[in-house]
Amino acid sequence: MKAGLKELVAPAHWRTLDFISDLHLEASAQQTHALWTDYIANTPADALFILGDLFEVWVGDDQLDAEPAGFAAQCVQTLAEAGQRLALFLMHGNRDFLMGSALMQRCQATLLADPCKLSIAGQPCLLSHGDALCLDDTAYLEFRRQVRSPAWQTQFLGRPLHERQTMARQMRQHSQQQQAVRSARGEGYAEVDAQAALSSLQQAGATTLIHGHTHRPARHELAPGYSREVLSDWDAQADPARAQVFRLSLAQGQPPRLQRINLL
Ligand code: MN
Repeated sequence: MKAGLKELVAPAHWRTLDFISDLHLEASAQQTHALWTDYIANTPADALFILGDLFEVWVGDDQLDAEPAGFAAQCVQTLAEAGQRLALFLMHGNRDFLMGSALMQRCQATLLADPCKLSIAGQPCLLSHGDALCLDDTAYLEFRRQVRSPAWQTQFLGRPLHERQTMARQMRQHSQQQQAVRSARGEGYAEVDAQAALSSLQQAGATTLIHGHTHRPARHELAPGYSREVLSDWDAQADPARAQVFRLSLAQGQPPRLQRINLL
């Protein structure tokens, strides 16, 4: 699989940058899907960064041709429309890490490496999905090492589509069981390790980490001059419902303005 872009400087003409993640789009979550198509049609963003887990599952780009009227193909149509009017960037999450170059091409999207450094008006940010920074979840990190290896991916993508879909369902069940075990032990959903987050910022020469994955939208101070901004997941069925866009607006001669826009 082609490696993603590691570094990007925001062009001076970008005025509005949107960051979203963890929509976990799937056919059964109709409300979230409707919210997403509405958001895409109306965002004033010049650039949209989707930092992982746009899809609940992605078993290979060939599903688009195999099921041209399917849910994935519908979502990609929406993305492709966005890709025609704004700069579109996608990053792999722990669910949709098999999004490949055929998908990127169809949407005129650029795949970002995890992490990717983004400089905005001289401010160095670091973009990540966030799962690799959850150091406590050792079982998951081991799984991640396996499924992110080119050998595993080549082997998996070589299987028939229906087999991959079955395997994806099994993996999802397994991850839900693991989560149940964690909950029973009184451990919550995985959390980003603050020290690892700070180190990754310092290594990259960046000051703000923007990530998703943990489904706990907030701003955290990591050290003087270093912070992390956690994106919200989108879940129209949750109580309270969550769907948030992290928006950075730029105006000449002014510091960037940060907004968290609740769509619900
Ligand atoms: Mn995730």
